[in-house]
Amino acid sequence: MDLASPGVLKAIMARHGLRPQHRLGQNFLIDGRVLDAILAAAALAPDDVVLEIGPGLGTLTQRLAAAAGRVLCIELDRGLVEVLRETVVASYPNVDVVHGDANRVDLHKLLSERLPPGRKAKVVANLPYYVTTPLVMRLLEEGLPLESIVVMVQREVAERMVAPPGGKDYGALSVAVQYYTEPAVVMRVSPASFMPQPEVESAVVRMRVRTEPPVAAPERAFFRVVKAAFGQRRKSLANALTSLGFPKDVVQAALLAAGIEPGRRGESLSLEEFAAVTRNLYSAEG
Ligand code: SAM
Repeated sequence: MDLASPGVLKAIMARHGLRPQHRLGQNFLIDGRVLDAILAAAALAPDDVVLEIGPGLGTLTQRLAAAAGRVLCIELDRGLVEVLRETVVASYPNVDVVHGDANRVDLHKLLSERLPPGRKAKVVANLPYYVTTPLVMRLLEEGLPLESIVVMVQREVAERMVAPPGGKDYGALSVAVQYYTEPAVVMRVSPASFMPQPEVESAVVRMRVRTEPPVAAPERAFFRVVKAAFGQRRKSLANALTSLGFPKDVVQAALLAAGIEPGRRGESLSLEEFAAVTRNLYSAEG
């Protein structure tokens, strides 16, 4: 059954007495070319374990199940979990559907139960846009065994993820995504590829999870500095970083020792510069 069709999706939903729920970010994919692009970006092998967040009616899930060894899906809407039994689980025994909130379930446990020793999973998902940032941050920060993340997100969020330093799109999300992964926008997607159509443009982002951080600095301190720098974007770095509890002259010295003019703004700093400031500040501390 090809689910990438408005008629088929409408018929299944009607049979189950369901309607797309806006509050759960339910915009279902109906464009086969977009599914092809997501599959190509995910580069799945027959022994891969895939984590899909928000499988919906199973349109992408079917394609993942055909290409990978095992697919673990987490869906919040109980009505859709029932639909998935019919659309996916009945014909693909390698799919597990967990009913739950992807922000709250124990992903370490769910993945370790399914991954062979030493293996990592690939995340592939058309994410619910109302929780994209916390979900992606969770995937990045929790040290999960992940090899890559291919996600459909709102286009603006995609642009923030890949933004270089200096522009208005560059912020704490850009630094985190680029610290943990090598991101790239693989496709822009128009609202017409979904049913119902979202109000915003979308994009598919591929993130290759790094095995080593790209810069040398204690991780927690690094993100404390990043958060402080972007927390008060309009302030100079020297002023913004005093919120970390360091006297201004210490902050200024740490910036100058990293070759950074203290009047610069946080949004102009590269990852390497954030790392240098972090090293200077947290060694200057003791
Ligand atoms: N994968 C399907 C597709 O591409 O057609 C559906 C994608 S739709 C954009 C997002 C899906 O995420 C919906 O099925 C929605 O019910 C589900 N969802 C929303 N919030 C969720 C959460 N916190 N945890 C898990 N799933 C969630």
